[in-house]
Amino acid sequence: MVTTVLHRASTEARPALVGATPGELRLLVEGWGEPAYRARQIAHWIYQEFVFDPGAMHDLPASLRERLARETVILPLEAVLERSADGGLTHKALLRLGDGSLIEAVLMRYPGTARSRPRNTVCVSSQVGCAVGCPFCATGMLGLKRHLTAGEIVGQVLYFARRLREIEGDNARITNVVLMGEGEPLANFGNVWRAIELLHAPEAIGLGARRVTISTSGLAPRIRELATKPLQVGLAVSLHAPTDDLRDRLVPVNRKYRIASVIDACRAYVAATRRRISFEYAMIRDVNDSIAQARMVAQLLNGLLAHVNLIPLNRVPGSPFEPSPWSRILAFQRTIQEHGISCTIREERGSEIDGACGQLRAALAEDHLAPRASSGV
Ligand code: SAH
Ligand code: SF4
Repeated sequence: MVTTVLHRASTEARPALVGATPGELRLLVEGWGEPAYRARQIAHWIYQEFVFDPGAMHDLPASLRERLARETVILPLEAVLERSADGGLTHKALLRLGDGSLIEAVLMRYPGTARSRPRNTVCVSSQVGCAVGCPFCATGMLGLKRHLTAGEIVGQVLYFARRLREIEGDNARITNVVLMGEGEPLANFGNVWRAIELLHAPEAIGLGARRVTISTSGLAPRIRELATKPLQVGLAVSLHAPTDDLRDRLVPVNRKYRIASVIDACRAYVAATRRRISFEYAMIRDVNDSIAQARMVAQLLNGLLAHVNLIPLNRVPGSPFEPSPWSRILAFQRTIQEHGISCTIREERGSEIDGACGQLRAALAEDHLAPRASSGV
């Protein structure tokens, strides 16, 4: 494990350029009496070169560079701590936002093989904390502090796009984005969608919509809304339990949106998009990991274009839940597969760096860095 402490974060209140659409950027520079092509130059620096310091945008006139530095911030976040694991393939960053809030983001690198191209996936947060309150989740224990802006969501991707260049060189690219960090993305639908459009826009990051995946605890009406959107992103649903009784406890939003209504919304999503949905299932010892429960999961998903992704539980301090033994996870997987549903076990990444989101913050609080890094939260 390698820990790097980066520069001190600011408490910035100036507007952020990351998060502005190409049209808004143009309006800003035109409002300053500059020609429209200056906006394209700025966007190029930010989204192609990953330069976030106006002073380094050397094809802009000095007066514009100074005005950008004085009146805007480019990237609305900065790293206060970064840890790497898995031989440098996983990098996790604790990022401080303009108001001092802390969020986490993770870069997972998958080198190419004879059969596959290299992939570089960024896992981003969508909220500070989360209101859903799943009792096995470090973020759930925090409660909701606030939604992230589109710029703060896209900013996490840009932060790691630059880090990836430093690590791998100029040709390295972020290939996938998953909204599986802190927060419930569909509870912050407007900002998340704006962020997805920016990730997709050729003038910004230019990522194919299919390379973006939203993970949700199951906000059924928002899943239906997603089905109507022109950009077809991937969908992962955190199931974690096959019965309402158990899911009420593990994913409390289930009291509002019952399993049947979530599955109905998923059917609508598949009908509209023809895309397979991934159902996430954290394996919790003696709680949701029996063969009988595996059969119920398979019955629930019967006839749906579905994949099951079993997640070995990450231990969270203060939570009573224990990970299932490996033999139980394998038996659960076999049972799902015997029912004709594809089922994989998620590769554990960064478990030595407090793998589950929300945990790096907790680790930091116990660190010698705590007084500085946790101030303002
Ligand atoms: N709020 C969204 C997305 C963020 S959580 C959601 O719940 O889907 C991403 C995934 O990590 C979810 O499936 C979540 O249930 C899972 N998760 C949270 N805490 C975990 C832990 N301690 N161990 C394993 N998976 C966990
Ligand atoms: Fe929120 Fe997802 Fe954590 Fe549940 S698992 S508390 S929905 S972030």
